[in-house]
Amino acid sequence: MKLLEVRHLNLTLDSNEGPVKAVRDTSFSVEAGETLAVVGESGCGKTMTCLSIMNLFPGNVGRLSPETEILFQGKRINHLSEREMRRIRGNEIGMVFQEPMKALNPTEKIGDQITDILKAHTKMSKKEAAQEAEILLQKVGIHDRKKRMNQYPHELSGGMRQRVVIAMAIACRPKLLIADEPTTALDVTIQAQILELLKELQREYGMTILLVTHNLGVVASMADRIMVMYGGKIMEQGRVDEIFYHAKHPYTKALLRVRFEEGKRRQKLDVIPGIPPRLLNPPKGCPFLERCREAMNICSEQFPEAYGKGHTCSCHLYSPEFSEWKRRAGGEVQHDGIA
Ligand code: SF4
Repeated sequence: MKLLEVRHLNLTLDSNEGPVKAVRDTSFSVEAGETLAVVGESGCGKTMTCLSIMNLFPGNVGRLSPETEILFQGKRINHLSEREMRRIRGNEIGMVFQEPMKALNPTEKIGDQITDILKAHTKMSKKEAAQEAEILLQKVGIHDRKKRMNQYPHELSGGMRQRVVIAMAIACRPKLLIADEPTTALDVTIQAQILELLKELQREYGMTILLVTHNLGVVASMADRIMVMYGGKIMEQGRVDEIFYHAKHPYTKALLRVRFEEGKRRQKLDVIPGIPPRLLNPPKGCPFLERCREAMNICSEQFPEAYGKGHTCSCHLYSPEFSEWKRRAGGEVQHDGIA
């Protein structure tokens, strides 16, 4: 069953230089109980996709196009009022951000911040909410919870603060948890503990997770499916094994190459040559064109449709007409097609 369905998401952000087309005609869905990882380089549209689902745009600079449809449990939510959205946020959809300090109020005690959420979304009394807040702190691995309840965010370590943010995000047992780079700001040992915690909570609560990350190691340990984004568009989608072992899109292959070469040589981070396109004036064809070794004339003229079923790839190399284009250009067919 589809818990979340996003259709034709188009997000424009206002900037001093003009409108930025941050997400362009993006459609995908998330099945109940699964973890979908959204991967790609910085600025590819991952975080903006999540903020669009939550209808949370910093400084109110974001606009969704009229054809955008975001359905949660079958109900369209992108036309709801701010008041109605507030009921869904924190209650049915929780969110964990990369930097926990942004999600916490520095002037309020930890216990009060969790208690406030419970009081806002449930019928609990203050006393019941405080008791529940302690249980939540224990659930996320904070053992000296009575002491922590009375501390301020700056008195906790980074890992502990992220645990508190997770406790707040799951306080009302949301059906969907959106986790945007939840471990990026943490050291490696704490990263592993937080990922393990998210997996445990998912098992216990039956939560669905939309996980945004640039870290393919995190993806391998957490996700069921992967969605690769670039230039505000989806390049490839599929099960983790399909993407890791049978990647089709030249961008996905480049991402995987960087990851494995980095791991093999343990040298400074390798990069994909070139830079992502500016979305102030996005290209009409494939956004990966300037960095793609396999680009053809057609690639600058039109964006490819998504070829394949289940495992899909938006690249002209997988068009049924590919052989003909290649023959006309005098080259040979080299790729192995898509299932
Ligand atoms: Fe490369 Fe063309 Fe495929 Fe884009 S559509 S990834 S430019 S071959």
